Amino acid sequence: MPKTEETVLEIDLSALEHNYRYLRAKLASTTKFLGVVKAFAYGSDATKIAQKLEQLGADYLAVAYTHEGISLRKAGIASPILVLHPQPVNFTVLMDHQLEPSLYSPKILAKFLEVARKQGQKKYPVHLKFNTGLNRLGFWENDADYIAEKLAGQKEVEVLSIFSHLAASEDPAEKAFTRTQIATFTKIATEMDNKMGCHPFRHILNTSGILNYPEAQFDMVRSGIGLYGFGNEASIDAQLRPVATLKTVISQIHKIEPNESVGYNRAYTSEGYRVTATLPLGHADGIGRQYGNGKAWVTVKGAKAPIIGNVCMDMTMIDVTGIDCSEGDEVIVFGKSPSAEVFAANAHTISYELLTGISQRVRRIFSGDPATH
Ligand SMILES: *Cc1c(COP(=O)(O)O)cnc(C)c1O
Repeated sequence: MPKTEETVLEIDLSALEHNYRYLRAKLASTTKFLGVVKAFAYGSDATKIAQKLEQLGADYLAVAYTHEGISLRKAGIASPILVLHPQPVNFTVLMDHQLEPSLYSPKILAKFLEVARKQGQKKYPVHLKFNTGLNRLGFWENDADYIAEKLAGQKEVEVLSIFSHLAASEDPAEKAFTRTQIATFTKIATEMDNKMGCHPFRHILNTSGILNYPEAQFDMVRSGIGLYGFGNEASIDAQLRPVATLKTVISQIHKIEPNESVGYNRAYTSEGYRVTATLPLGHADGIGRQYGNGKAWVTVKGAKAPIIGNVCMDMTMIDVTGIDCSEGDEVIVFGKSPSAEVFAANAHTISYELLTGISQRVRRIFSGDPATH
């Protein structure tokens, strides 16, 4: 990759391939793999990532909302796409685009059946989501009879899978809770099989689930963050490769006298002679104000340069005192070092939030895929 001359998010598709193969190798060859590409594939590029995952042999894709799935279909993605959190207002367009809904409440199920009937659907693929302890979205176990009755004798929809989601799969202190979730899920899925007289496939594991509870892989796993290079644990992060690198450039260098201030609200005051660099990215690009005032650092010529003062909408100032750098030099905001996980932790958040927050103003460029060169 040539040195950047502006702010870009570089997406390394060979890193995605490495991470996919790493996770795949933890699983039985018969276990299906669903790649989660919601939120622009964790802030990267949903279409490019989906294309690469299809090429690598992923069985399923998932998005959060219907319109994310429609964008993928418009880009020619043909894989089955699970919509994790659809709203009834979109059921018709969802069906028009062959997107497969997660149905998670009696009300949503009834509404979906009504729309499917109106549309003349036959055996439309749906997935039933059960709540086993996250208490966020999902049927409760005692909805089982209602679901079975509602589905009995109808021809409009077919239940392809039953699934649930873990609340703390990354946390060793929550092993007992997670095992209870898995046991509850097994019990509910078996009960549903019996009540419905069919055997939909099962899935409960996210990335940390794959790493910590491979015995619960059932028929499919759903991975997001691991594909993008993070495993919620330093030892795993060391074996994965970050897909996204946020790069920028030094726009201007200033020599600051002692007791001068830098930036809005004069939030930073120099104690001695300092050299500062101004970068063309700010909170409108997804680097929020919480990273300012010394919380996070970036890499300039291999050295750590802290963010000083308040992050502005379109600019950020860093302290480059003692670093041999000039205007036009490349700056790594996050990537290999600091990693997105380390950068995020400086402001008490997680890689997921940092990555998905990189705004659409930042141009995405791609490396590691022969087809894009
Ligand atoms: C986002 C999401 C995932 C992916 O989780 P990761 O921790 O990123 O692997 C899996 N399942 C559901 C239901 C999700 O919402």
